[in-house]
Amino acid sequence: MFKKSYGIDQLKELERLYILYEKYFYHQLLDLSTSEDKNRGQQYQGTADLDRRRDAPQNRERSKWHCKKGCDTCCTCNVTMTSLECEYILTQMSLDERYKLISLIYQNRSAIRYHPEVTTNGFAQICMDGGDIPIEDNDPSWGKCPLLGEDHLCPIYEKRPFGCRSLVSEVDCFKSGYAEISPLTLTVNNIFMQYIEHLDSGGITGNFTDMMLAAGTWDSVIHDDEKIHIIYNRKARLLMIPPEHRNAVEPLLKSIFDGKQ
Ligand code: SF4
Ligand code: SF4
Repeated sequence: MFKKSYGIDQLKELERLYILYEKYFYHQLLDLSTSEDKNRGQQYQGTADLDRRRDAPQNRERSKWHCKKGCDTCCTCNVTMTSLECEYILTQMSLDERYKLISLIYQNRSAIRYHPEVTTNGFAQICMDGGDIPIEDNDPSWGKCPLLGEDHLCPIYEKRPFGCRSLVSEVDCFKSGYAEISPLTLTVNNIFMQYIEHLDSGGITGNFTDMMLAAGTWDSVIHDDEKIHIIYNRKARLLMIPPEHRNAVEPLLKSIFDGKQ
């Protein structure tokens, strides 16, 4: 049995990271080069606002991303999240809404889904120690995310975990069969994932479905008739930043750590 409660500071810090990530990409990917654009970018306060502006036709034309509303190939049953992110989703819902959400996940869950063997900070530690990386199975054909509706929309879009936010592609995944993510974006994603896990050290990580089914008890073994797989989060001992990206991510690191709550 594993129980952990979160303070408002941790939830606010997570939200700040989500907003920072969206702002980072809003500037980088729309290539906001004029000071007027940059000032407009600074005004955005929430992820919903950023999403709306990113989807605006004039901005879509300027975006390097293919990602857009209703594009859902990446919404598979293999998304993962931390317990802090699970708490962030659930605390913004009434008991009735939580019950409906978890029932929907239970009804639509895929029997086979990705179960991570190691967290991002665990992976960094293994690399530092020169250890063996566990082999994991992860196949998008195992099924869709249990929350994805017929309308191709996510019912918790504004609260979605970082694993969903960070699935971004410069090509149409439906046509290509894979997402194309630049090495720098992968580095930026790792930085955020490492810091979110660090913020939730002592918490757990697992498949989105497992985490939701275990929600409320964080019971690591059984939910009804099925096995829930979780792994324990760790503190970040070092950030995985390749030498060629160090200068590029410096301002971002400053924003992350200077604004820390
Ligand atoms: S990652 Fe791929 S499938 Fe997901 S929204 Fe972007 S382009 Fe669409
Ligand atoms: S939680 Fe939402 S954004 Fe994430 S995979 Fe499921 S439907 Fe997609």
